[in-house]
Amino acid sequence: MTRRQYTVALIPGDGIGQEVVPSARACLDAVATKHHFGLEFDELDWGSARYRRDGAMMPEDGFDRLAASDAILLGAVGEPDIPDTVTLWGLLIPIRRTFHQYVNLRPMRLLPGVTSPVRGGENIDLAIVRENVEGEYSEVGGRMYRGRPEESAVQESVFTRVGVERVARYAGDLAARRRGFVTSATKSNGIVHTMPFWDEVVEQTLAAYPDVRREQILIDALAARLVLDPSRFDVIVASNLFGDILSDLTAALAGSIGIAPSGNINPERDHPSMFEPVHGSAPDIAGKGVANPVGQLWAASMMLEHLGEQEAAADLLGSVEAVMAKGVLTRDLGGDASTADVTAAVTEQIGG
Ligand code: ATP
Ligand code: MG
Repeated sequence: MTRRQYTVALIPGDGIGQEVVPSARACLDAVATKHHFGLEFDELDWGSARYRRDGAMMPEDGFDRLAASDAILLGAVGEPDIPDTVTLWGLLIPIRRTFHQYVNLRPMRLLPGVTSPVRGGENIDLAIVRENVEGEYSEVGGRMYRGRPEESAVQESVFTRVGVERVARYAGDLAARRRGFVTSATKSNGIVHTMPFWDEVVEQTLAAYPDVRREQILIDALAARLVLDPSRFDVIVASNLFGDILSDLTAALAGSIGIAPSGNINPERDHPSMFEPVHGSAPDIAGKGVANPVGQLWAASMMLEHLGEQEAAADLLGSVEAVMAKGVLTRDLGGDASTADVTAAVTEQIGG
């Protein structure tokens, strides 16, 4: 039998990415040894330092390097004095679009030792499926009459039938493996062209799943329901903008942004998918050794699941939960453990 072997492109990036990615690497090594598969890391120095040096976050042949990998594990990119557009349009968005990572998956539930800021938060167990490549985040539009009284700006949204159908299908498939309930975020009362189209295509697509219940909720009401009654939700499917906002909201409901994971997924697997924590480079705590590595570790577990290593994925996340249940918690969760303490406890828990 040939040994299972994967190549992972590793982009620690900036700030606490430099601390939580090595933590994930150590835990991945431990879990790969225990579950008898090989992991090879292609470590890439992409990010703000490179941008300052070369004027680009990634090299010209960057996509070829990534394309040769089975998956990408990203920490965080961005520094306070570098414009968000450089990080977003110079790295994250091109990767998502080039590799057709059209689903942004953000599972969320309350991990042991964490207190939710809302009532009923203990029972949160949901997943946000955000459309990741089209919709509101488009380059179509422009600024007009700069500096004149009639100055204005136009920003177009682009929704395609193919684009909405495939993300709805992903939500339907996921719900069928979970509790069988999809909520679609809409705003068809105010946005009268794209949102009714979204509703129609989502409805048609999900009608093919007889065992999946479905509903549409206006985004404003949905935001309120998430705070008042978060445990009623299973899978939430949303456009690029709505999904972006909702997933920060649910990450906050689950106690700390430091534990939330995210997958930029290419469901067809014709290109690598990319896994990262929801948090950014957190310059305020970078270099102090106190960053919570759990978001990065959970993202690494999602990556293993995507690679087909289900047992190892469950082992890694289960070990993180066991360690948290023992009270090994970083400062953001009210504990005093360092990044290194959590890493050591998780690798020990995995054993091997
Ligand atoms: P970006 O623009 O890259 O998203 P940001 O400053 O908007 O960066 P974060 O970098 O996520 O957002 O930081 C938001 C706050 O959450 C900061 O106070 C940061 O210290 C805290 N934080 C983020 N991630 C972690 C973590 N892993 N552990 C502890 N605290 C964290
Ligand atoms: Mg941010």
